[in-house]
Amino acid sequence: MPLPPPLMLTTGPVTAYPEVLAAMARPVVYDTDPAFQGFYEGVVEKARAALRLSNPPVILQGEAILGIEAAAAGLIRRDDVVLNLVSGVYGKGFGGWASRHGREVIELAVPYDAAIDPAAVAEALRRRPDIAVVSVCHLDTPSGTINPLAEIGAVVARHGGYMIVDAVSSFGGMDVHPEEVDADIFCASPSKCLGGTPGLTLLGVSERAWARIADNPDAPRASFLSLLDWRHAWRRDRPFPVTPSIPEIYGLDAALERYAAEGPEAVWARHALTARAARAGVRALGLELWPRSEAIAAPTATVFKLPAGISDEALRDRMRDRFGVLVSLGRRETAGKVLRLGHMGPAAQPVFAVTAIAALGAALRSLGLPAAAEAGVAAALAVIAGPASPTDDIPSSKASLGGNAALL
Ligand SMILES: *Cc1c(COP(=O)(O)O)cnc(C)c1O
Repeated sequence: MPLPPPLMLTTGPVTAYPEVLAAMARPVVYDTDPAFQGFYEGVVEKARAALRLSNPPVILQGEAILGIEAAAAGLIRRDDVVLNLVSGVYGKGFGGWASRHGREVIELAVPYDAAIDPAAVAEALRRRPDIAVVSVCHLDTPSGTINPLAEIGAVVARHGGYMIVDAVSSFGGMDVHPEEVDADIFCASPSKCLGGTPGLTLLGVSERAWARIADNPDAPRASFLSLLDWRHAWRRDRPFPVTPSIPEIYGLDAALERYAAEGPEAVWARHALTARAARAGVRALGLELWPRSEAIAAPTATVFKLPAGISDEALRDRMRDRFGVLVSLGRRETAGKVLRLGHMGPAAQPVFAVTAIAALGAALRSLGLPAAAEAGVAAALAVIAGPASPTDDIPSSKASLGGNAALL
């Protein structure tokens, strides 16, 4: 096993919190031991509270893409028309699953540095009253942009449609919850902003979506894609459809505990502040952000354009090998055009933005490119050291800095 990079500022998976890893090392118990079944019910209750749901969420036994595929397979009926909103790679990708299960997929796309306009969604629904399902990626990570989800949800709800949301890289890092945005299926992941590991999906499913899935003759059963199989798995008096990954459930429990203990608002505040510092640093270095405007820039990933004369891999490798900071490359349409600084879970520490900008500026210079490294660092630092920094009000921020000391 090669040594891990000293600081991992990736867009997921992220370095899990130490308490998550410690929990995962506990002995594996028999899944139908009543003690474990009771524990599992407690984990689902913690997830329900974090998601602010009025019904229990479902945990599926695979990382988030499983949940997204399961949402398509369960909710979309074979005669359905689906409106797929595309502002990036993940949104685009959902169209493939939607067309596997539905009759027709209509794509409403914007350039990958822009956000979906709710008025355009309303217009698309007006033109095609037969659209039954709308799918949207809230935060398309390869673009580092966010869509106005609550407004889109309100438009879809007025139309009477069902909305599937990929909130994998936003939930836990900002204020977004399924019922507040009228989502019918809301996919979240333990391995991004919750600081867990990549092995499970969390899904919020509305009661009307459950009714539609139960009515769908093609909804999977006896399958890892089955939402119905897992619907009641949270109940301590029900056996699991298959053995769940016990260590992953331990890890999720610890991640949810930590999220509640630190306080969601405090967690979101440190994600937002880290991203703000990173954006200020990128600009002061003389680089350009990928999102068209800061208003749509994600609080959990900062995506910037590569300067001319350097490849993404050369810059990524220099940052990692010489300066100890691992960042993410672009993906598909953004591959080769951008690099991405992740601010998710344990990596969402404002001071890490300063470190990232220092590493980026130094790497550019060492590769012979101009970079205002000192100005970049100063700009990032000015954001986090400002007198009105929101983290000044976070009582538990010291605990999270302590938890991350192992990373430095
Ligand atoms: C990380 C992520 C997923 C999970 O998919 P992987 O590509 O397997 O990591 C899904 N949606 C979004 C928006 C993500 O950022």
